[in-house]
Amino acid sequence: MPPFDVPEGDPFGPHNLPYGVFSVPGEDGGARRVGVRLGDHVLDAGAAALALGSPYASLLARPTLNPLLAAGRTAWSDVRRALTGWVTVPSHRETIEPFFHPVAEVTLHLPFEVADYVDFYASENHARNVGRIFRPDAEDSLTPNWKHLPIGYHGRSGTVVVSGTDVVRPSGQRKAPSDPAPVFGPSVRLDIEAEVGFVVGVPTPMGSPVALADFREHVFGLCLLNDWSARDLQAWEYVPLGPFLGKSFATSVSAWITPLDALDAARVAPPERTHPLLPYLDDADEEPGGYDLRISVSLNGHVISEPPFSTMYWTAAQQLAHLTVNGASLRTGDLYGSGTVSGPTERERGSLLELTWNGRDALELPDGTRTFLEDGDTVTMTAWAPGADGARVGLGEVSGRIVAG
Ligand code: MN
Repeated sequence: MPPFDVPEGDPFGPHNLPYGVFSVPGEDGGARRVGVRLGDHVLDAGAAALALGSPYASLLARPTLNPLLAAGRTAWSDVRRALTGWVTVPSHRETIEPFFHPVAEVTLHLPFEVADYVDFYASENHARNVGRIFRPDAEDSLTPNWKHLPIGYHGRSGTVVVSGTDVVRPSGQRKAPSDPAPVFGPSVRLDIEAEVGFVVGVPTPMGSPVALADFREHVFGLCLLNDWSARDLQAWEYVPLGPFLGKSFATSVSAWITPLDALDAARVAPPERTHPLLPYLDDADEEPGGYDLRISVSLNGHVISEPPFSTMYWTAAQQLAHLTVNGASLRTGDLYGSGTVSGPTERERGSLLELTWNGRDALELPDGTRTFLEDGDTVTMTAWAPGADGARVGLGEVSGRIVAG
């Protein structure tokens, strides 16, 4: 199928145009280039820009998305408009066509240099499930701060990996409450967290909080994110400073970054706020801050959950406002995770912790039962969002296979 003739209804049609970084095995010494996905092809965007004499070649003929991320919203819109023209206007066809490669024939790389990485905890359903599992006797399944600020922690940016990268089962200390002493060994409660990652483009200097209304000036786009979690390591180590080695061994992101500009039709109001918010987080008068992303999680090819991102209590704009309200600066390439996405029903939970209720209720799959992940298991997350006129906007998948440590 020639790339210009993407079938009607393809979730990666010209209305989408996510960005990635790819190389072609055996070509150009494996040089990395910025690519734009169209259907089941990827356009070498830098080569196309050079061939067309585009002024955006300086942003696109690069081995990473960082220069484009840093260029800011006006440039993001201009480049997207130009790309839309290149892949839809018939007169460009002859010039552009040599720069398409079948996605199946390229190697996809981590598309940007990850600066800082933060992970949040923004799903009320997830937070309540975790509260019920670990604090069954508490009066409220939410902690007292939960409705007042988006809870988060700083993760490890150096272990953010692109979809398709194997995940080595981590080892560490664990100690069940009934054990007399901790033991060391491979995690026996390895889990997933189905999340959405937001990619910061435009940096800020220290001392300059980002207001809710400026979210789209700083955030370029989003991706799917799997926050692999070793629950046994996490449970023993996290008191009182939070997640550490139970999370930092790997975080997977999709190879494609969907620009926010492709998701305008998917913007929705977040759930009703049940508590008054301090002014810097109060989004009552802001544009809708939620995104209607329909996520699907599969384990070895079997769908185990379909978490709805529209149910997230805290929005990405609120998370950005909160993480900068103390004057912390932003860097190009900062990545922040939404937190595990869990909907209200059992089949919408975004972690095995919740799906199996901490291992109590094993999942029945066609190839056996599961509580937590076994070596050789592959977890794949996909998602789509409603686009204009009934179209679907596909997000790039994030997939990873567990290998023995
Ligand atoms: Mn997480």
